[in-house]
Amino acid sequence: MEKTNKPKNARFAAFIKKNLYLILMIVCVIAIATMVAVTYAVRQKGTENAIDVSAKEQPSHTETDVTDKPTSTDEPKDEPTASDEVLFDLPLEGETVGVFANDTLVYNATLNQWSTHEAYDVAAEAGTEVKCVYDGKVESITTSVLRGTEVVVLHGNGMKTVYSLLGSDVKVSVGADVKKGDVIGHIAETGTFEKHKGPHLHLEVWNAEGEKVDPTLFFESTDK
Ligand SMILES: [Zn+2]
Repeated sequence: MEKTNKPKNARFAAFIKKNLYLILMIVCVIAIATMVAVTYAVRQKGTENAIDVSAKEQPSHTETDVTDKPTSTDEPKDEPTASDEVLFDLPLEGETVGVFANDTLVYNATLNQWSTHEAYDVAAEAGTEVKCVYDGKVESITTSVLRGTEVVVLHGNGMKTVYSLLGSDVKVSVGADVKKGDVIGHIAETGTFEKHKGPHLHLEVWNAEGEKVDPTLFFESTDK
């Protein structure tokens, strides 16, 4: 047994001796390669994480945008006005004879001048009832040559609706609570500032800031 083993062992030992440096080098190369591979793998994981993070940040813009965000999100908050919630009833059934125009000039044949028209005009025969478009309280009733009898209704949200060119025989009094659909007055041939349109209601809507806004924004549908 020894005799057969010895040469084998001897050969193996000789082989090891002969190739010791080579083996050591191979072992070293494998060790270095492993280290490099591990290091690379770890690094790659790190960059993957970094990519993930930046990918998550991307939809919310760059860092500078993120710092700007509070101001940009504050601005649109003011935009949704009462128009999203408030829904008016039509004050009467009739033909639209004037639309809201605050950025274009409309010719007024009666006054022979061009001006904005920040109201909604609905024509109907004299005597046609004009109804309150939304719950509120009558703030004022005035009469003038230009605007006929005019009723202003203040609503709970700070908005106002102004019904101009009415007959003097109004159905409400100052301070009275009015509901949507209550008769306020009637169409008449009073008021001179839009006489060329014939008898009609000149309806204005003022928002809580006192700006005139398009009344049709608050109607479910209008027969334009
Ligand atoms: Zn008008």
